[in-house]
Amino acid sequence: MAERVGMNGAAMRQANEAAALERIRRAGAGSKAELAQVLGLTPAAAGMIVASLLQKGLLEPVGSGASRGGRRPDLFRLAARGLYAGGIDVDRGGFDVLLLDLAGQVAGLRRGELPEGAPFGWFAERAASALAELMKAADVPDGRLAGVGLSVPGYVDARTGRIIRAPNLGWHDEDAVGPLRRALAARAFGGAAPSCAFGAFSVRLENEAMAAAIGEHWAGACRDDEDFLCVNVRSGIGAGIFVHGSPYRGAGGIAGEIGHVAVDAEGPVCGCGRTGCLETRVATPRLLASLGVPYRPATAARDLLAALDASESVRGDRGRRLAEETSHRLGVALAPLVNALNPSRIVLGRDLAVYGPRLLPGILAELRRDALAESFAAVQVSITPLGGRASAVGAASIPLAGVFGRDREGPC
Ligand SMILES: [Zn+2]
Repeated sequence: MAERVGMNGAAMRQANEAAALERIRRAGAGSKAELAQVLGLTPAAAGMIVASLLQKGLLEPVGSGASRGGRRPDLFRLAARGLYAGGIDVDRGGFDVLLLDLAGQVAGLRRGELPEGAPFGWFAERAASALAELMKAADVPDGRLAGVGLSVPGYVDARTGRIIRAPNLGWHDEDAVGPLRRALAARAFGGAAPSCAFGAFSVRLENEAMAAAIGEHWAGACRDDEDFLCVNVRSGIGAGIFVHGSPYRGAGGIAGEIGHVAVDAEGPVCGCGRTGCLETRVATPRLLASLGVPYRPATAARDLLAALDASESVRGDRGRRLAEETSHRLGVALAPLVNALNPSRIVLGRDLAVYGPRLLPGILAELRRDALAESFAAVQVSITPLGGRASAVGAASIPLAGVFGRDREGPC
């Protein structure tokens, strides 16, 4: 393999360990013989890698597999408590902080309030405190937090860790990583610089829709997909796009802004200054407003689902009509993407985890009408299996992925 040319022994061993972890992560469990075969190693080399990973506490034995003629092989799986990462997902009104373990399970979750106009530094302190509480409750051993990922709705520079513009939060041109790292040091590491036993402690920033796509690829609906979209609706609308198994960010890093696709020539003026953007019609606060329901961030998606049901049964067809219009508009915005990108899957997430099932038949009908038959036949459209947590799971998986040799963009 070309990328291994010039590697010294330690780097080679690290790359092989990462490849072994990734193989076992994807398969759920594996034996030394399987690893040797899949990774092209000698049985002795595979044995040394497994021994090293057991010693580090990143693998654990999990019984034995089926015999292929000889002795039943010992099987190994990821040690859930071997390594953790924090995932923070902030949006208008509140934020979620979760602890993700090495096996991809949520080991703890806290929700915090975000008052209107709260500065980033205030939020960083609260989020770091919440993570410290989760680490304490889960009894995370020293050195076993790989890092923290932060998911923000808006334009971000994932490489430099700067929030360029998060209009719904009022944050503009903010360094996110520095203040968050300092807050983590103060709140979760007793004043010391955060560190991890398995490499650099990384603090990473990601756009919320892309974070969701990373989460779906890591532990959700898109584990076996390489070309897919995750469409998130909440206070805004965004799409995280994967092409060839990697995030597609576009030339300026803002690909996926489907909230600003024009769907209604008669529509209202959008925050972006244009008219009739998808976001002016379909974002959760807008949908609630059109049914006369007040917007409360913490319960908005459930309130909307209840209102759709109530207005259907009590006040005739307002809810049904709104669901039809909304499905139609989402379908109109998605059909060109289906034609242009030919994805194998579209995952509907964030608030759509709650009320998306009401819209899915209409979206499919619109795509069947508007997309090419071949492109439509190739795409599965589904609701996220991660509930509203895909962005937080995805953000947490970014620092974790480095241990699996999957972090392509380097730590901040
Ligand atoms: Zn717009």
